[in-house]
Amino acid sequence: MDFCFDNGVFKEVSNSPPTPQTAGCSTPHDKAHPALSEMLTNCVHCGFCLAVCPTYQMTGDENNSPRGRLRLWREEAEGRLAPDPFTAHYTTECVGCLACEPACPANVPYGEILEQVRHQHVDTARTRPPLSLRFAAALSKRQWLFNLAMFPARILRSLGILPHKFLFAGSPPLMESTAAYAQRLMAEHRPTGPRVALLTGCLMESVFREINFATVRVLIENNVQVVVPPDQGCCGAFQEHLGLDGIDQLRDQNRTAFGKASVDAVVCNSSGCGLALSKTLTDQVPVRDVLGFLGELKLAQRTPSEKDARVYVDLPCHLIHGQKQQGIPANVLNATGYRWELAPQARDCCGSGGIYNIQKPENSQEILRGKSEFLNNAAGSPVILATSNHVCMMQWNSARSAGLVTRPYQVKHVIQLLDPGEDGLRRGGKSAVS
Ligand code: SF4
Ligand code: SF4
Repeated sequence: MDFCFDNGVFKEVSNSPPTPQTAGCSTPHDKAHPALSEMLTNCVHCGFCLAVCPTYQMTGDENNSPRGRLRLWREEAEGRLAPDPFTAHYTTECVGCLACEPACPANVPYGEILEQVRHQHVDTARTRPPLSLRFAAALSKRQWLFNLAMFPARILRSLGILPHKFLFAGSPPLMESTAAYAQRLMAEHRPTGPRVALLTGCLMESVFREINFATVRVLIENNVQVVVPPDQGCCGAFQEHLGLDGIDQLRDQNRTAFGKASVDAVVCNSSGCGLALSKTLTDQVPVRDVLGFLGELKLAQRTPSEKDARVYVDLPCHLIHGQKQQGIPANVLNATGYRWELAPQARDCCGSGGIYNIQKPENSQEILRGKSEFLNNAAGSPVILATSNHVCMMQWNSARSAGLVTRPYQVKHVIQLLDPGEDGLRRGGKSAVS
């Protein structure tokens, strides 16, 4: 006997040839993934994943571990445990960091299972995401609307007013879009190297747009041709984290937008978005983290003016566990010109988890507490915490208002440390070749 999800509930499926009834037992996820029952039974309960799981390490509760959650889901799927709030609670406690995947000798695809279970719990009203997040997720499906809604946040940041703990300092362009900017710089500099399409992202484009602009400048400076498909959509990670519908529509939109871009790769400057998009464009066009992509080029070198600055590099979970990258290439970090080192516990989760820091703020801050305390005594002036995911940047910034870090520090995307600036780009022209 096998199982599948249908309309939000587990159903038994006979192993015999499909009947008209069982043939209809499918969801969009079933088409691309192995049967859920098979994925759930892959766990051999060895417990190797316990040591890397932040929620188990924080609570010592087996139900709050990968092994415990898989057990609960399987017990429900096989009918030995009735659906109850207990299982739903431990499902929402998971950060979704995916640290358990590389630790697992049985290759349990925990992320795929989690995605399906989250959907099932929302579909059956066992979990109800807050209205504000559902509203934001709905807005994110229309990039122009999301941009409009977030315009005040962009204005405040450009004025240096940071009223929320997640808003880190920066100067986002207010009116010009990344698509228009890339087109303008491409016409001005005419790079001749590899051609890439940039995913601009919903939150990145609407609130942290200066990172997209820096990404365009760095790529063009290194002789990369950049296009920004105007009809692209949100990567779908927002919906995925919340267990909401609408991912398939966004995936179709992005398959069309990036499929016709005629590029060597699609590059992403946020590891979470990159992971989500790589699931969308499977076999269509390579999806690359922009820093990994740049690591294969001979990069233009920066010379920072702050000689005593020290950069501490943190590695996003969705880069190293989700996209299975080794990290951020050393030659990219060396090209920043800064004295850098990996942050202590750089491979551990910071607690951001997409929207986990909004849904579970206490857990999230507790996870960040141990990881961020080194900044209080870190050498350097200024001290810069650099990473490659804007959601992790928001989380690191919140360590200040939470009182976890009491000394001044800056939060930067690594691409910003490579940025020549617009004037620098004009002065240097195409200063490196692939
Ligand atoms: S995704 Fe992270 S928090 Fe969730 S079970 Fe795996 S290791 Fe634990
Ligand atoms: S490491 Fe893998 S097989 Fe072992 S308990 Fe964890 S999920 Fe199960």
